[in-house]
Amino acid sequence: MLTCSKTYRDIPFAHRQHWHGGHCSLIHGHNWAITLTFACQKSDANGFVVDFGDLKYLNAWIAQNLDHACLFNESDPESEALLAQFGHLFKAYILPNTSCEGLAQHLHGVFNPMVRAQTEDRVWVTKVEVEEDSKNSATYLPD
Ligand SMILES: [Zn+2]
Repeated sequence: MLTCSKTYRDIPFAHRQHWHGGHCSLIHGHNWAITLTFACQKSDANGFVVDFGDLKYLNAWIAQNLDHACLFNESDPESEALLAQFGHLFKAYILPNTSCEGLAQHLHGVFNPMVRAQTEDRVWVTKVEVEEDSKNSATYLPD
């Protein structure tokens, strides 16, 4: 198996963990980084796992969905009322869990099918690392 990785850095977005007992329950932002590791059994004609120049669709998805967004847990009891009244102030993105771990797992579910489709199933996403800052990160490795 061959792998390569691509990191998207300094992506500003906010989140909150509504069930957390501390300050993580407050809406707050980070400049996130997302590192995707791609894998294949056989490289392309250039010897690449993926051509980094062909990954603009991933950057576009991040720009459209995460950049300057506010992430809410889908079970957040406050998000519906908040967005009903102040939705014009938020670019909301709702997912099962906005933790680094939850986001890494969620992004694998988003990006892996996209990468497989773009490469006709030659390449898959084998690891997603999400960093919320220089100290804290989480990794999702599919089984
Ligand atoms: Zn945070």
